[in-house]
Amino acid sequence: DPVDWPTRDLVAHRAATTPQRTALIDVETDANWTFREFDRRVDRAAVGLRSVLDRDGDEGGDGTERLGVLMDTRPAFATLFFAAMRTGTTVVPLNVRETAGELAGKVDRTGLGAIVCERATEEAALAITSETDDGGTDVDVYSVDDPEVDRIRSLIPPRGSTDVDADRDRESRSVDPVPLDRDDEQLLMFTSGTSGRPKAVRLTVGNLVASATASAFRLGVTPDDRWLCCLPMYHMGGLAPVFRSALYGTPVVIQREFDADATTRVLADYDVTGVSLVPTMCKRLLDAGWEPTDALRFVLLGGAPATDELLARCRDRGVPVHPTYGMTETASQIATATPGETATHEGTVGQPLLFTDVTVVGEDDNPVDPGEQGELVVSGPTVTPGYLDRDATEAAFGERGLYTGDVGYRDDDGRLWVLNRRSDRIVTGGENVDPGEVRAILRSHPRVADAAVVGLADTEWGERVAALVERDSPAGSGSDGDGGHESLNLDSLLAHCDARLAGFKRPKTIGVADSLPRTASGTIDREAVRERLRQAGTDATEVT
Ligand code: ATP
Ligand code: MG
Repeated sequence: DPVDWPTRDLVAHRAATTPQRTALIDVETDANWTFREFDRRVDRAAVGLRSVLDRDGDEGGDGTERLGVLMDTRPAFATLFFAAMRTGTTVVPLNVRETAGELAGKVDRTGLGAIVCERATEEAALAITSETDDGGTDVDVYSVDDPEVDRIRSLIPPRGSTDVDADRDRESRSVDPVPLDRDDEQLLMFTSGTSGRPKAVRLTVGNLVASATASAFRLGVTPDDRWLCCLPMYHMGGLAPVFRSALYGTPVVIQREFDADATTRVLADYDVTGVSLVPTMCKRLLDAGWEPTDALRFVLLGGAPATDELLARCRDRGVPVHPTYGMTETASQIATATPGETATHEGTVGQPLLFTDVTVVGEDDNPVDPGEQGELVVSGPTVTPGYLDRDATEAAFGERGLYTGDVGYRDDDGRLWVLNRRSDRIVTGGENVDPGEVRAILRSHPRVADAAVVGLADTEWGERVAALVERDSPAGSGSDGDGGHESLNLDSLLAHCDARLAGFKRPKTIGVADSLPRTASGTIDREAVRERLRQAGTDATEVT
């Protein structure tokens, strides 16, 4: 095994080896904590967690206890994550944007006994519990803040009540970190639900450490590093920097919510050296006039395909962009390209990370030649042992590894390109249509900012090609004076397609929208796109 793993939680390691280095910086309050200070906070949270676990008649430490977390991106989330690691508890991040009904389903499926919330999510947490199968009788709610609602107990013990508080300079803890095993389930993370119901992915301590290690081999680590976390921590892209920074002994800068102007300032004011972004965020930063500082070493750009136009803008602005292919099932990164590769090999996501293998297989399940398309199959130490749902695991894994459902190819040197999802393929009248090809043509129209191309059920053709296009925003439409919004007209778009696409590839239904529906991680929500397009008839129609 090429990757070793720590024997106890990472903050305990860092408190012993680099206690004076900065662990966390909170943008909201401009506060920061050293690893020693952070270790104390983790200890206090661990005391609280222990009492929660004991209440459920479990001693903790066996790695099977699961704890729901309904919190925004903030330091307390990171504290709780490491306290869970310290007590052998699995963290199950819950998406604060989802409805109580959706989340209650997740709570039931994952068998959560407790949810930890914060002041802002108290009401939401109670709403979830009342919608679970047993009406909330089995799910306790705790808060990391002083709770306002009676039914919610405080998770964090009052100051002065623990050994650590009693003697601030001693290396003592109230809770001894449990020994970790590589195979311990540390995280149960839900996928974004782009292709259906979100799947609960089991990620082990080994998966997380392997991912952080392999990432460091690609991006490098320097003592001055500061990774900005402005993605939601209930997605891998948000939690990964927290975990990685603790392993590296470098600070993570936590910003509660991405905002183009605010994030631009944070990137400069905090000397941020690395940041993970989804393409829409990167575009918004560029639109807001962001100029990267000299300190910035890398921008991990992933979660959804980056357009050539976005990459070109990054190049012009000197953004050290690292296009990245990743998924929840691999604890984030699978492949990451360097800025140099991005310049010479347009659209590539680069080589797979160290220890990660990507095989491109054809319909017959055999590897295809370089340059040929097929489904991407991933294997290596970052790959999940499986989903919570056994059937889903069986459907996704084969001898070669995890079948990602993504279609792509590799060149002679092994660089990877990700094209689309298998399930996105459209078969119309027996012809295969690549939605990516149609999308690219739509996007090349000067008044189109983005487009989503899907197949809709069709009585005559089996499926018909349908597209929802996002009009170019007035700001992006340049100074040619022919007036922003109104100028995207359907006839010109159809003529544009007629001139460039074979008849069977042309969208038979077209809708125009101000923005495409997206999941929280930035991928286009294709089911929502289908829903909007279904409302239109079989002729090209404007649906919004
Ligand atoms: P679900 O699995 O529930 O359908 P999801 O796949 O969108 O949701 P995530 O794990 O957040 O959930 O996203 C991983 C997916 O995002 C990848 O499998 C791939 O389809 C897409 N993706 C990520 N990075 C890229 C990229 N650079 N280019 C193209 N697609 C990407
Ligand atoms: Mg997926």
